[in-house]
This record gives sequence, C-alpha cells and structure tokens, in this order.
Amino acid sequence: MPKPSTDVDTQHSMKFRRNTLPDTLQASGTVMVPAAADSYIPLHGSTHYEVEHYALDLEARLATNQLQGRARITARALVPLTTVELDLTGLGMDKASVNGTRVQKHSQRPGKLTLQLPEPVAAGAKFTMDIRYSGFPAPDDGAWGEVGWEELDDGVLVAGQPTGAPTWFPCNDRPDNKASYRVSVTTDADYTAVCNGTLVSHTRKSSRETWVYEQSAPMATYLATVQIGRYKLLALPAKDGQTQLPITVAVSKKLQAKAATALSRQREMVDVFTEAFGPYPFDAYTVVVTEDALEIPLEAQSLSILGSNHMTTTWEAQRLIAHELSHQWFGNSLTLASWRDIWLHEGFACYAEWVWSQESGSLTIAERASAAHTKLSNQPVALTVGAPGPDMMFDDVVYKRGALALEAIRVAGGDANFFALLQRWTAENRHGSVSTAAFVALADLVCADVPQFSAADILTPWLFRKPLPPLPVR
Ligand SMILES: [Zn+2]
Repeated sequence: MPKPSTDVDTQHSMKFRRNTLPDTLQASGTVMVPAAADSYIPLHGSTHYEVEHYALDLEARLATNQLQGRARITARALVPLTTVELDLTGLGMDKASVNGTRVQKHSQRPGKLTLQLPEPVAAGAKFTMDIRYSGFPAPDDGAWGEVGWEELDDGVLVAGQPTGAPTWFPCNDRPDNKASYRVSVTTDADYTAVCNGTLVSHTRKSSRETWVYEQSAPMATYLATVQIGRYKLLALPAKDGQTQLPITVAVSKKLQAKAATALSRQREMVDVFTEAFGPYPFDAYTVVVTEDALEIPLEAQSLSILGSNHMTTTWEAQRLIAHELSHQWFGNSLTLASWRDIWLHEGFACYAEWVWSQESGSLTIAERASAAHTKLSNQPVALTVGAPGPDMMFDDVVYKRGALALEAIRVAGGDANFFALLQRWTAENRHGSVSTAAFVALADLVCADVPQFSAADILTPWLFRKPLPPLPVR
C-alpha cells in the first residue's frame, strides 16, 4: 500500500462495533460477534444487510474518464429495513428500484447512498436492488493514499485496498461481507478489460468492446477490480509436471518478452505454495502487467497487478511476484473479518516470500527471518502487529514481524506441525473470513503433541507487545 498519512481520524463514534479482541491472546479463543462494521474503516459498510451477489454492468469511456454503471445487487436483510445505506464515493445515482419497484426517495452524502425502500423488508428476507449511477470516477484520497478507480496514461487501474470499491460501484464495503460477482465492462475498442474470475464472453460492436467476467467464489469488495489497457491476454505455458492451473498474463506487446522472463517461475511458485499451503483456491490466476511503473503491486481476487518496473528476475521483483500470488491463499480465500487482523494477510504473505526463497534455492527461511529480525532490531517500535491502528496497518513492520511470529510457531511446533497447520488453516477457512483468535485456536489443536505448546504464549510478544522478542531459533 502507499505510504500512509497521519491525519486519519480514528475517533469516529460508532453505533455498531465488533467486539474488540483482547490486547493479549491469553484470554482469547472466542470469535467476535457477527456482522458489525469495521473499526478501522468506521465510515464504511452497513451491519443491516449482507450482499450475496453483485451483477455490475459498466460502460467506461476512456477519453473522458466517464463511467456509467448499473448494479444489480442481491442481498439479505439482517434487521427489519425501511432504508438501505450503500457505500458510493464520487458518483451519482440516476435511478433505482428495489424488488422491482421504483425508489422514490434517496439521498447522497459523501461516500454514502441511502435508498428509501418502497416497501419495508423483513429481517432475514432476500431483496434485490437495481441501481443506475454515473459520473467521473476518481480515486479516494485518504489515510492510505489514493485508492479506487484511477485513470492511467492509457487505461484504467483499480486499487481497492482497503476502501477503494465504492469509487466504482455501490456496495456494502465491509471485508467480511463476501459475495459472488458478475462484471461486464464495455469500453473503447482495442482495449482489454480484465476483472476477477473467468472471462465468460467478449464481443465487439462498432467501436466498443464488451468483456464479461464471473467470480463465483465469494469475494470481499476491496478485492474486486477492473483493469483496462492495451493488453494481450496470453496463456502462460506449462511444462510437464507443473501445475496446469490456467494462468493468463495480460500485457502489452511492448512488455511481452520482459514479462515472459520475469514470470518464467510463476508456475513453480504455484507448485511450491500448493505444497506448503494447500491447493490453489480459485479456478484460474491472472497477472496484469501495467505499462506504468507501480510503486507497489496490487492484489485482487484471482489476479495480481504488477507494474512494468516489477518485470525483472531480481530477488526484489521475484519476492513481490511470489508475495502477490500467496495472497490468493492469505487475504483472498481467507479474508480477515476485521482490518485489525491485517497481519493474517501480510505476515503470511511475507512468510510465503521466505518459503519461495528457500524452495527456489536462495536463502533459507531461517536466513530470511534472521535478516528481517536484524532490520527490525535497528528501528524503533511504533506499533503492535496484532492491532496496528488504521493508519499503520500497511506498515512494513506488520509484514516482517508478522512473518517472524509465524517463524516462532514453526520453531516451537516443528516443520511438520507448522505446515499441517497452514494447510488446515486454508482448508477449514477456504473462501471464508478469519481472525487471529481462530488461528491461535487451530495452532493449539494442531500442535497438541508438542509439550507446553501455547500459541497465545508464543504469539503475544510478537503481536501484542512492543519490545522485539529474540529471533526464534531451534
Ligand atoms: Zn501484501
């Protein structure tokens, strides 16, 4: 994520609030109450309903950066509803209907669209919203830099994490409300639109092309994406014995050769991570390579977005390619229920870099851990990894120290238990929502044969205390 600014207002009072985790894991083991808005993004998301499916029809005009959208949303009421509040940033609603009846009254304020329902909806009932909207989409400039729909020199990029989704579609923007998606993008001819999931149709009509994608596995709003560019969609070749997972590279003709070299070990990475973390969780994987250089790569469900600057075989580039791939397991299939637990994504993805390092014949996990520990020991401790606060949640310390917390579990539990734990973690929570407390509980279960093993005792100094614990070594 871009460098966070420090002016985020974390003092919003919240009507609904998730039960906060204890600041230590000693007393943990219970998971939080369901369906509360996220304390790290308190202005986003509603606790009153949950979305099951988004069908989005987008008309994107590149020359004028205009977006016309239609969102057909299938949702379920969690409380009796007379109004529905959606997140929508910088775009205007044109008209809407609910359960087929025209909405007569609605209101918009920054970031929010509220529909007065033509008829009340009972708690537990399913309902559908059909919302037409339009405008000139722009990124949302907040605590995490600019996120959301962004014009490139020649195309569009969407960086959703953590609050960018409402810049291009009305949604219930909570990480724990996962839904399936169908996204149709009509845009200028000779451009390719890439979205999550599988391309199900592509048609051309005069000077416009339409690309339709389906993502049937549940997906958090921030992981939904649209990338538009002068991309060719190329199948990444597979050698004998390698995973046959469909992997597509979306890349311009100019960068094609560079991308082929930089991504030549992508399938090996999938195989290494499958061995370490369990089966790849989605039907396919796509790597989008933008013409622009990107400060950081971006993760989205079933795809990653890398910049032209990442197309090298240096360790720095390869570790990012591995890191983004590993988010398919840690972040996308298993998504935090609350942003507070961001280490469950970034600590694990950093650890995955070390796994790739070792398995590809570079430094071992222990050597990478040692280097990270040395680096951390030379800097002041500004946050606790298990509750970093919203403006620090993408700080590099969360990544490195989060990975070291996992290394502490590996050292204490042994290799066999540790990788069994990661595989059970991904299997039991596949396409679900996760919490630190659930990970602690599972670690204790898997490592039950290790005398005195307590995941809470091991993790608390790493996640909930400031002083840096000693490097875990056997
Ligand atoms: Zn990451």
